[in-house]
Amino acid sequence: MNLLDFNNRFPDELSCRQYLRLKREEEGITCKNCGGVKHYWLENKSRWRCANCMSTTNLRSGTIMEKSKLPVKTWFMCIHLMTSTKKAFSALEMQRQLGSKRYEPIWYMMQKIRLSMAKRDAKYKLQGNIEVDDAYFAIVDLPEVDELGNKKGSGRVVNTDGKDDGEQKRGRGSQKQQQVLVMVESNPNPDQKNTHKKKRAMGFVKMVIMDNLKGDSVNYEVAKAVHPNSSAITDAMGGFTKLKAILANHTATVIPKKEAGKTLPWVHTVIANAKRLFLGIHHSVGKEYLQNYLSEYCYKLNRRNFQSDLFDRMILAGANDTWY
Ligand SMILES: [Zn+2]
Repeated sequence: MNLLDFNNRFPDELSCRQYLRLKREEEGITCKNCGGVKHYWLENKSRWRCANCMSTTNLRSGTIMEKSKLPVKTWFMCIHLMTSTKKAFSALEMQRQLGSKRYEPIWYMMQKIRLSMAKRDAKYKLQGNIEVDDAYFAIVDLPEVDELGNKKGSGRVVNTDGKDDGEQKRGRGSQKQQQVLVMVESNPNPDQKNTHKKKRAMGFVKMVIMDNLKGDSVNYEVAKAVHPNSSAITDAMGGFTKLKAILANHTATVIPKKEAGKTLPWVHTVIANAKRLFLGIHHSVGKEYLQNYLSEYCYKLNRRNFQSDLFDRMILAGANDTWY
């Protein structure tokens, strides 16, 4: 769906609400009170009524839009822009695109969408041959409370995307590198006859921020992300030496820098592309939010071959995705 199609399909708030209603009814509404599934739509109240116990369900309740005061159309537009393009949007850019007066609700909406993306990807485990490597992303290490009295992680100041450097430097904490564990399905691709292309095919991808890269921490995250039948391919870093305990196979190779592209072709491409994408978009990311940006990146990458229904998936995403 391109922007023109989107505008034709959703010219106003009413068309968006009608579409949300239709999609939710296709999914089926379950009454929170009695578990009943038969409902009537109350047009003037914009709610469903349970045929069994008469309690009502709001159009947005149980969805990612629950409790948001933003119009449904704003959500739709934002989800569309975030899922239909390869580009990553800063909240400031999104605010401009949506013509919104306030920055915070837009920033918050985008983080919720990213969290929802993370939840969806967490349902799947990687399988087969997995390239595993560490990467370092620039973050801002924020003080507990900044000069405006905002608590760390309050969301107001943590993400300063779009603001100028001068503002970032004033008491906004120091630049730091965040360790990230990157896992990429990478299986032999005998059909690839082009000698300039990679000999392996990339499958799904996961990226997770790490407090450290010690063996136990690595194993904990790999066990969550990867099916135990799988084989890991890594360099000889100490943190990877325990992988055999949780996976069927592990090949660790001492990799000279020049060779990295051959032994671990996809994981390096994925890391380089993520860095390029984030560069200039999310200027100073707090540690808490880097994971959300990585999740968005992986979600879109993992669905690169079936873009068409991403929009519907996201508008029906659950509201129970917790913030932290
Ligand atoms: Zn009921």
